[in-house]
Amino acid sequence: MRKNSPSTARRQALRQLPSVDRLLAAPAVQSLDLSLSHDIQVDLARGVLDSARSSIRAGEAVPTLEALARHLQRAAVNEFLPSLRSVINATGVILHTNLGRAPLSRAAIQAMASVSAGYTNLEFDLDAGTRGSRYAHLVASLTDLTGAEDALAVNNNAAAIFLVLSALAVGKEVIISRGEAVEIGGGFRIPDVLRQSGARLVEVGTTNRTYVEDYLRAITPTTAAILRVHTSNFRVVGFTHEPELGSLVAQARQRDVPVLYDLGSGSLLDTAAYGLHREPTVQETVAAGCAVVSFSGDKLLGGPQGGLIVGRSDRIAVLKQHPLARALRLDKTTIAGLEATLTHYRKQEALTHLPVWQMIAADTKRLKRRARAWQRTLAAAHATSLTATVVSGVSAIGGGALPGETLPTWVLRLTSTAHSPDWLADHLRSGSPPIVARIEDDAAILDPRTVLPEQDKAVAHALTTLAT
Ligand SMILES: *Cc1c(COP(=O)(O)O)cnc(C)c1O
Repeated sequence: MRKNSPSTARRQALRQLPSVDRLLAAPAVQSLDLSLSHDIQVDLARGVLDSARSSIRAGEAVPTLEALARHLQRAAVNEFLPSLRSVINATGVILHTNLGRAPLSRAAIQAMASVSAGYTNLEFDLDAGTRGSRYAHLVASLTDLTGAEDALAVNNNAAAIFLVLSALAVGKEVIISRGEAVEIGGGFRIPDVLRQSGARLVEVGTTNRTYVEDYLRAITPTTAAILRVHTSNFRVVGFTHEPELGSLVAQARQRDVPVLYDLGSGSLLDTAAYGLHREPTVQETVAAGCAVVSFSGDKLLGGPQGGLIVGRSDRIAVLKQHPLARALRLDKTTIAGLEATLTHYRKQEALTHLPVWQMIAADTKRLKRRARAWQRTLAAAHATSLTATVVSGVSAIGGGALPGETLPTWVLRLTSTAHSPDWLADHLRSGSPPIVARIEDDAAILDPRTVLPEQDKAVAHALTTLAT
């Protein structure tokens, strides 16, 4: 047998690795204070030694005890890293569905934490000392803000539509414009939901033009409702017509047919005041006479996930009594978060207190200053391989709200002579907290609009790590 063959050297190197017990007893490990049970420490140590063995077999040197201790510490941190984590959204897409849509206001966060910590009057009437209703908590805020007679909140807007159709249209016909029989996203298609709820879909008009008469002609004795759907994730432009809501409602009412409206985002504020396309507000839709209107809690409303339903009290009463309402009901933390969010609107402070609206209304000069500050931190880090420039760009609303609508912004544009834009984005995403950037024109782009101001330091720090 040849002495000092590579395999012999490797076998000798492998033998230099400590045993699990020796590794755990080493001073470098003892000083870590892993605060984990012995069994878990043994598992993690085995994993660390296994990967050390693989790297030695791949020709690497034997790691020191200190290096193994560092690997063990990292393994301990990673082992219990939650799957759902905070990330920094530098994409410039405000209602990013993949990143959890609306960030919440301080008051909403506080309200959710406060009701989580102990018991609440969730289904308890404090005045009478008797059983109360979980559905009662959001009614006053929602009716006050929208002008509707009654309200009900469920898990999300998809659930709201399902409940509305199941309760009000099962076994009957629902008339919908061809241009509005849409897929909302994630495979949620209005025709499928209608079918699932037991209602029969009657499509009228054409993709681009539908008139009041089209709806009226389709009314039969088995018509349960007319459904309008806000086509929130695309826009048909050009030769189009959709009937004016007020006149549709008025003429349908003469035939005793209620109009239901899935508003999608459902803004309570006038989006046109912020340089955006005009969305019908919830208040206007209620005022036009719709029997039931539903919208999301976590889109332009700026609260936690929820499906808010407002409308006529006779219809809402039917919804509350339907078995699905129980299956789709909200938990106490969401009710608390939604109520705190709605309170901002009632106090007329939504624009200054709700992150979604602060981002929409953000001053472009201030955005430019923040992007410049990131750029300066990078310049101070002497990252010679990196080029960072502050250039004008566009932010998006996202979340299927205001399709194609953008807001002018200033972004940090990053390129590197050493790495691809994808590498830069991957590196930022693997940090703690992860930062999600976007790739555009062969560069990694970071938009300050969707970065919370208190996250600016973390972004600046992460940028300096790209230099090494
Ligand atoms: C987003 C959207 C929905 C779904 O709302 P979720 O709260 O995400 O369930 C339904 N309808 C329209 C028109 C939408 O834009």
